[in-house]
Order: sequence, then C-alpha cells, then structure tokens
Amino acid sequence: MLTQAPKGTLDMLPRDAHRWQSIERAMRRACALAGYREIRTPVFEHTELFQRGVGDTTDVVQKEMYTFEDKGNRSITLKPEGTAGAVRAFIESHMYADALPAKLYYSACPCFRYEKPQSGRLRQFHQNGVEVFGAKDASVDAEIIKLAMDVLKACGIDGLRLNINSIGCPKCRKEYLEKLKEYLRPKLPTLCKTCQERFERNPMRILDCKEDAPKLTDAPAMLDNLCEECADHFDKLKRYLAAMDIGYAIDPRIVRGLDYYTKTVFEIITDTPDGGELTVCGGGRYDGLIEELGGPATPGIGWGMGIERMLMVQDMRGSAPAAPDYLDAFVVTLGDDARMAGMKLVNDLRAQGVKADLDHAARSMKAQFKYANKLGVKNVVVIADDELKLSAVKLRNMTESTEETVPMGQIVERFTRG
Ligand code: ATP
Ligand code: MG
Repeated sequence: MLTQAPKGTLDMLPRDAHRWQSIERAMRRACALAGYREIRTPVFEHTELFQRGVGDTTDVVQKEMYTFEDKGNRSITLKPEGTAGAVRAFIESHMYADALPAKLYYSACPCFRYEKPQSGRLRQFHQNGVEVFGAKDASVDAEIIKLAMDVLKACGIDGLRLNINSIGCPKCRKEYLEKLKEYLRPKLPTLCKTCQERFERNPMRILDCKEDAPKLTDAPAMLDNLCEECADHFDKLKRYLAAMDIGYAIDPRIVRGLDYYTKTVFEIITDTPDGGELTVCGGGRYDGLIEELGGPATPGIGWGMGIERMLMVQDMRGSAPAAPDYLDAFVVTLGDDARMAGMKLVNDLRAQGVKADLDHAARSMKAQFKYANKLGVKNVVVIADDELKLSAVKLRNMTESTEETVPMGQIVERFTRG
C-alpha cells in the first residue's frame, strides 16, 4: 500500500517530463497567438458550485465527485472539470465589467473524478481547457475548435475526427424534449436504472448512456428540431469551419455530459487499435451557465482536452517527441583544486545557458565517466589538478571517443558557439 499510488492515478516521472512540458508549451503558444489569457482556479470549490454548474443529473455529479467535509463542516469537492471554477472566478472578480469577450485558458489543470479506472479513464487526470465568456457569434465556436486542432497538431496529433452537433436552446429544447419523452416512454422499463431516473429531469442525457444509447438509434434528434436562431447559429458554424478548411462530421447523438450546454457541442476523437474510440477533446456552448451561477446573462463556450489521452494517442502513433539532451556538458574532476575549478566552470556554463553538471557523490574519476555515460552526456570536460596549473582542460566527445586540450578560458565559448 505504502509504495503504491492510489487507484486511477499516474505519476509524471522525470523521463516523461519533456512530453508534458511540450504539450503545455503548445497550449500556451496557441492560446497566446489567439489572444487567450491564463486563469488558474483552486483545486477545490464548494460542492454546490459543481452541483449547480455541472448539473446534478450528470454522471459527474451523481457518481464521480470527490466530495468531503472539511474541518469547518463545509462540503468541498475536488474539481471534476474546469468550467465551473472559471465561471465562478469570472463572476466573483467582476470580470464581466471588463472588455468582453474574456478569452481564458488553463493548462494541465488537475481534475478528479471517481470513475472505474481503466485505459484512458483516471481518477486524477489533467485538462487543458479554454473558456470564452461574452461572445455569442458562431465565429467563436469555430475559433475554439480550430484552437483545439492547433494544439493537438503541435503535439503530433492530427487527422483526428471532429464531430459536431447542436443541442438547441431552452426554447427549442422544450418542445423537443416532449417528443423525446413520447419516444422513450414505452421503452422506459428496458432502460437502466439511472436513465429511468433521468427520464423526467433530463431525458436527453439518456441518449448519452453507455448502456442504453445503442437501443435508441431511431430517437428523434435535437438537430431536426432547432429554432430559427439555433439553426442559423449551427449553419454559420459550419460555414466558418469550411472557411478554415476544417473537416467535420455531424453527429446528432453527441449530447455531452453536462447540463448547461446550449447550441454547439463537439468532440474530437480518434480510433484506438482495439477498435474502440477515444475522445481527446470535448466542448460546447453554455449560454445559460453564467446567469445560472449568479452572474449577469453572458454567453459562454469552452472545451476540455485530456492530457493523459493526448499522451496515449502520441504513444499509439509513435509521435511522442524525443527527449532533449539531459545535459550539454558534464564536468569530471580529479583532485580538490580541480573540483573547485569545476564548480566554477559549471556555474559559468549555466550562466550562459549551457546545461551543465558535475559529480556530487565524491566518485572516482572512472566512476564519474561511467555516470556521465549513464546520463547520455555527449561532451565531458575533464579537469585534473596538474592540468589546472596549465590552465587547460580536456574536452572529450563521448560518442566519437575523441579528446582535445582546450584552454580553460575558452571552454564556455566552445559550448555557446552553437
Ligand atoms: P467521457 O465520455 O469519455 O466520459 P466526458 O464527457 O466525461 O468524457 P469531459 O467532461 O468533456 O469528458 O472532459 C473533457 C476531456 O477530459 C475528455 O474529452 C477527456 O479527454 C478528458 N477526460 C474526461 N474524463 C477523464 C478521465 N476520467 N480520465 C482521463 N481523461 C478524462
Ligand atoms: Mg465522463
């Protein structure tokens, strides 16, 4: 137990750190280019925020939240997703009074869901995400979709499938829900227990059920029942996507897991080698959420992208970036004076942006070389006390096994020259 991480969690080990960092860099760069600014919200919030913001008929709230009482008897929940916290911060900090839209992003934000751990489904995972508050035009819907594609592409993940749908607005959904309920009513006894419970409060979610959805292929689609405004919005989105050369498929069955979505919903998915599908990114519009949480009526839209799933796709495709060199230079020293000089040299190198290190374990010279080899360092600088008097050091290329003598004063330059 003591040396076993809790179920559904993963360590990010140093050997993979560059992969996380490159994903975060890609995210930050794409977001900066499109005028998005970073927001970081707490890892935990009042439970009520998620009950209201994610919706208490969702799987996330009904089954998956990490909720506990703190020492002050408050009900606290570890964030299962990023949107609710961002909306809370937007309202609390009166960001709605600033220039709108507010274009926000978060990178590698930890999320917690008590799910059955399996491939691609963790209990602590990490999301990149964007949220735009205060823009209702479909151009924003298209922009965030393109942004997701750009981030994925920069991470060696392209050619994924984009599926889009519209789930309408409260106005047109009301009529549609009646039709849907009429269709579902006779099937009700055959549906799972959770879906039976959802029938009154959120029948659309039944179409999203992992168990029941296959039985419901001829259910009426929201897409065929949109009001004029929603139909027009969807039409514009398709035109914006086409204008940016983004291919898509319409999937009337995407309803998304969350209550507050309106109009556009989308998923970016890939096939897995075992014949399944993996959703890497999911998002949509939530024009009702900010008001629902106590802010002024403000449209919103966003997506969340699972970082662990991005890593899985990189692995599946062999497109993981290679690890950069761990060190540019390793300094091997022999004797006390040499060690002092080595310490100074390492610092001079670091000051000039050269990744450098030396032995900190009082190893023999032979062991220092062995250590440098283990680290995969190509260039080793050798300082010995007698050479020190000559103010010269040896520069050894470990891959080519060549060695030359270089004046101490020229070493830094040798590494910075490029
Ligand atoms: P799913 O249908 O796979 O359960 P979801 O609708 O619950 O997905 P969202 O709430 O939209 O997922 O989360 C956005 C993204 O976060 C997902 O597309 C996925 O990449 C990632 N994600 C969600 N849940 C998990 C999890 N338990 N483990 C790892 N990644 C996850
Ligand atoms: Mg889920």
